[in-house]
Amino acid sequence: MIVEKPETTSETSQQTKWAIAGGGMLGLTLALRMAKQGHNVTLIEAAPSLGGLASVWKLGDVHWDRHYHVTLLSDSRLLNLVEEIGLKEDLKWVETKTGFFTNGKLYSMSDTAEFLKFPPLNLIEKLRLGGTIFYASKIKNWKRLEKVKVADWLSRWSGKGTFKKIWEPLLKAKLGESYHRTAASFIWAHISRMYKARRTGLKKEMFGYVEGGYRSIINRMSDLLEELNVDIRVDHPISKIKKQEDGRFKIDFQGRDSETFDRVIMTTPNSIMSRVCEDISADEKKRFDKVEYLGIVCASLLLKKPISPYYVTNITDTWVPMTAVIEMTTIVDTDEFGGRSLVYLPKYVPADHELFDKSDEEIQESFLSALETMYSDFDRANVEAFNISRVRSVMAIPTLNYSQLLPPMKSSVDGLFYVNSSYILRGNLNVNETITIAEEAMETVLSAELERSAVATSK
Ligand SMILES: Cc1cc2nc3c(=O)[nH]c(=O)nc-3n(C[C@H](O)[C@H](O)[C@H](O)COP(=O)(O)OP(=O)(O)OC[C@H]3O[C@@H](n4cnc5c(N)ncnc54)[C@H](O)[C@@H]3O)c2cc1C
Repeated sequence: MIVEKPETTSETSQQTKWAIAGGGMLGLTLALRMAKQGHNVTLIEAAPSLGGLASVWKLGDVHWDRHYHVTLLSDSRLLNLVEEIGLKEDLKWVETKTGFFTNGKLYSMSDTAEFLKFPPLNLIEKLRLGGTIFYASKIKNWKRLEKVKVADWLSRWSGKGTFKKIWEPLLKAKLGESYHRTAASFIWAHISRMYKARRTGLKKEMFGYVEGGYRSIINRMSDLLEELNVDIRVDHPISKIKKQEDGRFKIDFQGRDSETFDRVIMTTPNSIMSRVCEDISADEKKRFDKVEYLGIVCASLLLKKPISPYYVTNITDTWVPMTAVIEMTTIVDTDEFGGRSLVYLPKYVPADHELFDKSDEEIQESFLSALETMYSDFDRANVEAFNISRVRSVMAIPTLNYSQLLPPMKSSVDGLFYVNSSYILRGNLNVNETITIAEEAMETVLSAELERSAVATSK
């Protein structure tokens, strides 16, 4: 692909030097957008490779996403990006099915007929559940849902029985005990995304992926950034950011020499801002510290044969140690996995949960034992590889009045900006929302500063 280079490269030394902290999808998108406008950008990532939550690892002999990722037909910003980086032809779309594991049994819940047959709920409960989902999908003013707890809102609309049998176990699976403090805007965002996806398509659940997984996307973005002269620094954990007397920012790295930049955009989780940005106000720090994060322990299994016909099997039985079973071969061509199956077993937990301290062996044993109970034909001899990803700060939990909690993205320190996924207000965490935050920040909070630095460059 030919990338039009900005005209200002020879003036690089006089240009405003921007540092973007965090090389996940948000940092990568910002870097691409800014570099295309001709800005001088350095992308700084702590890990040895780019991608963050969407990064790739090796499972047995397979390179694939460390966490499961699918794209929806309604993910318009992500689909634009995929087209822009020349990967549109590599997108594959597949109709998927959803399963439910409840009261020790597996059910298919992929269409209305199956929903109506679903035994755990009586007819009234089913109607109330369907009505709640439909009503939520019609709500436009999500801000009023920020003021109500998700458990209260769902009990009111679906009734106590449906709440106890379906919603509460699902909320617990997705949010742990934090669901008690979560606002109804969380479930609204989830339902709206799924509804929009069906509306955009053929009223069927179509999920997509790019051939090669996120590895293809991240590699292509990284190549483009290099062509656009973005300085990419992996393996550069930032330990301190301090404003100097000359108005520039000195960034210290663990085990490396410090560097100086004119402007800094933080895309990392909030705890990192509080820890490394020395000059931020007490109020900003207090606000960041109040944002609760959800973490994840997510196992990836390479299996000799598939385990399930459903992409997602939601689990409501609390004795099962994982939140869901994700069977990737329901979407991804098995050739990508050398003819084998790739299954993810996620468990969402608060950032300080004891599961983070359990050994790989303990987690593996409890997850495999659960699979043996859930699937009569599952045999652990079919497991060729088992990896465990642990991330403490995955998603900011939308607690009551969450949008009032965050400090402005333009920080109290002139030239320092916060543009991370905790600013997603109208949706839950996904790459489309992540890109939206980056692109909207370019048009709003960063625009004046970007204009100033463009003027300085052209002088
Ligand atoms: C289990 C799971 C399943 C998911 N499924 C989907 C899906 O199906 N579809 C979908 O669209 N999205 C999905 N997502 C969400 C998607 O992965 C995120 O929306 C996206 O990757 C977030 O990107 P980000 O750049 O905002 O954050 P991150 O990826 O967290 O990037 C932040 C980066 O900052 C770096 N960093 C942290 N501290 C420092 C430091 N001190 N110095 C330098 N760098 C630092 C981190 O290493 C990281 O790379 C899923 C996420 C998870 C965890």
